[in-house]
Amino acid sequence: MTGSNVPVTILGLGPMGSSLARAFVAAGHRTTVWNRTPSKQVPLVAAGAEPAETVAEAVAASPLVIVCVIDNEVAASILGQATTELSGTTVVNLTSDSPDRARQLAAWAAEHGIGYLDGAIMTPVTSIGRPEAVYLYSGPDELYQRHHPALASLGGTASYLGTDPGRAASFDAALLDIFWTGVAGVAHGLALARAEGITGAELLPYAQGIVELMGEVAVELAKAADDGEHPGDEATLVSAAAGMTHVIHAAQARGIDASVLRAAVGLADSAIRAGHGEAGLGQIIESMYPRSTT
Ligand code: NDP
Repeated sequence: MTGSNVPVTILGLGPMGSSLARAFVAAGHRTTVWNRTPSKQVPLVAAGAEPAETVAEAVAASPLVIVCVIDNEVAASILGQATTELSGTTVVNLTSDSPDRARQLAAWAAEHGIGYLDGAIMTPVTSIGRPEAVYLYSGPDELYQRHHPALASLGGTASYLGTDPGRAASFDAALLDIFWTGVAGVAHGLALARAEGITGAELLPYAQGIVELMGEVAVELAKAADDGEHPGDEATLVSAAAGMTHVIHAAQARGIDASVLRAAVGLADSAIRAGHGEAGLGQIIESMYPRSTT
């Protein structure tokens, strides 16, 4: 069978699993769906998917099984309900979780004769089946080559990152680290603005400018991370720590929790105490995970 007519099973029909199922149905795959809460099958069956009452029944329907649930503990408990039926199939786990938990699930699959690819979806549900979707995969090269044509039905750009099953989850964790810390920063800034009588709409144009600036900061910090060189000629850590401390004072004056920024200034302070006050912002990376550790 070629990519576009390989039967596919989707385990997990939250917003993301449902979007994946819709994309496979739209691309012409026989798509079997299962979810803990069966009512979530209903709109997908109306769109052309096949319902399954049990995990075992769902898995028996397809050589390619996608699991996409809240975390890998849940993914493991679902897959564990059909260990026998999964033997000889390939599981593509598109659940977001830590690298070590991805490797544990890969080891469990190997023990039971189940092919296993780990994956991460870096874009929202609205991107699925569209050119803007971004998928990362890792695991055995042969499995990726075999299933890539079917996975292409999900649209967008897929990148294969290597044989280590934890590598896609490593990228995912690092990228979500940036994302969630950024979300916390935007929410905190909006709370501080509100406390000072500034609306979200008033702040937004300037907030977007700061978010765009982060793109440039990322270029500089990525280079610093790889070079291990952190010149402070444009901004020193001492100056950055002072800037962060002003924001902490502004938040505390309005009774707003400032613990995220306090953690950041704590990292800068430890680098300053270690004699790096005149270094640039990249020195904070060394405070968290020195190059000698790699
Ligand atoms: P959730 O992360 O909330 O996952 C919901 C799914 O997990 C449902 O199928 C739910 O079943 C199932 N589930 C939760 N707990 C259990 C349990 N104890 N036993 C069995 N099933 C359980 O929603 P999403 O679908 O949005 O996300 C799925 C994955 O996709 C996550 O790893 C997420 O990080 C990732 N992702 C999501 C994106 C998004 O935009 N939504 C973007 C990129 C990645 P039930 O319906 O019965 O509750």
